[in-house]
Amino acid sequence: NTPLHELDPDVAAAVDAELRRQQSTLEMIASENFAPVAVMEAQGSVLTNKYAEGYPGRRYYGGCEHVDVAEQIAIDRIKDLFGAEYANVQPHSGASANQAALFAIAQPGDTILGLDLAHGGHLTHGMRLNFSGKQFNVVAYHVDEAGLVDMAEVERLAKEHRPKVIIAGWSAYPRQLDFAEFRRIADEVEAYLWVDMAHFAGLVAAGLHPNPVEHADVVTSTTHKTLGGPRGGIILAKKEFAKKLNSSVFPGFQGGPLEHVIAAKAVSFKVAASEEFKERQQRTLDGARIIAERLVQDDVTAHGVSVLSGGTDVHLLLVDLRDSELDGQQAEDRLHEVGITVNRNAVPNDPRPPMVTSGLRIGTPALATRGFQAEDFTEVGDIIAETLKPGFDADKAASLKARVTALADKHPLYPGLK
Ligand code: PLP
Repeated sequence: NTPLHELDPDVAAAVDAELRRQQSTLEMIASENFAPVAVMEAQGSVLTNKYAEGYPGRRYYGGCEHVDVAEQIAIDRIKDLFGAEYANVQPHSGASANQAALFAIAQPGDTILGLDLAHGGHLTHGMRLNFSGKQFNVVAYHVDEAGLVDMAEVERLAKEHRPKVIIAGWSAYPRQLDFAEFRRIADEVEAYLWVDMAHFAGLVAAGLHPNPVEHADVVTSTTHKTLGGPRGGIILAKKEFAKKLNSSVFPGFQGGPLEHVIAAKAVSFKVAASEEFKERQQRTLDGARIIAERLVQDDVTAHGVSVLSGGTDVHLLLVDLRDSELDGQQAEDRLHEVGITVNRNAVPNDPRPPMVTSGLRIGTPALATRGFQAEDFTEVGDIIAETLKPGFDADKAASLKARVTALADKHPLYPGLK
């Protein structure tokens, strides 16, 4: 029972340094968040020791009476949160949830229709090197000139290729999808509709985004993005898919579930049903909108910086640097230098290579969790704008970094952790 710092000072030092990094910088990677201490407590609990192959009440191991309770709470809470008929809380990650979901409703070789990776889709929606691209016949739809998903193209491709599954969901898209229209098209070609709400699940839970569960056959999500829980995945669906999905997750792709993570998911679902969570998601949305507004000011756009689709109605915005001298890599590096963490991101029809890109994806969930208010997001937007303008030198970097530090100090993260 030797504590980590004594048993393994090397790993402890890395953990400590990561805590300090999270505390002292502004985390703006759109897929990241800060899990509550209670979630991390459940995740770091003795439940990690337990084998529990199977599902609550139907396990292949003895001694599952307590993990059964935690897993059933997680299932009941997530069903309530999204109004779902069925839930599986065992997927180890978003990608695992997607793999299990896709193989439950389609066979290798079937055609799937998803958003192109370069236009904001996810690897698991048909990227060439991913299981989805290797084992399925992929047809991709795109965003149009205005940066919006081209529903006319979705309909045309659906009619032409008659996919088994249509995938609605994204990793980098600043607007809401029209789930009812996706449903209409899916029905017209007798395809299943799978929505991957990994990014926007927290907004849905808060009632601030349309709920795909009302339209889709299957809905997958991560639990660690806007939803704010431990790293993991979930699958929601209509009852009729329950058997196939359960058996696809276990024994199809996974063995023993991570019951410590499932318990932590349950805790985060309780949080997600609260008024406080709703208020936080509203600040997340407001923050992204405010930052987008600061970046479309004339003195910024004059330098070739703009925002894809002109703004956002979710938790992220996409900065377009196609007309800027700065590329995505340089912009990411500059922001890192002042203490803001974002990721570079390809924009549609990106002229620069994928490792460099001409865009940035900037998200607000983590800062909203940290307590940032509208005036703080205005300051963040101004810092980002200044960082991306010409004339960035050591002096300017130092003064911008001081402004970042002031914001970090104003909203302490995990004050009880050392
Ligand atoms: N689906 C979408 C839309 C995502 O954006 C992501 C993660 O970025 C995933 C699935 C995969 O989640 P994970 O990284 O937990 O496998």
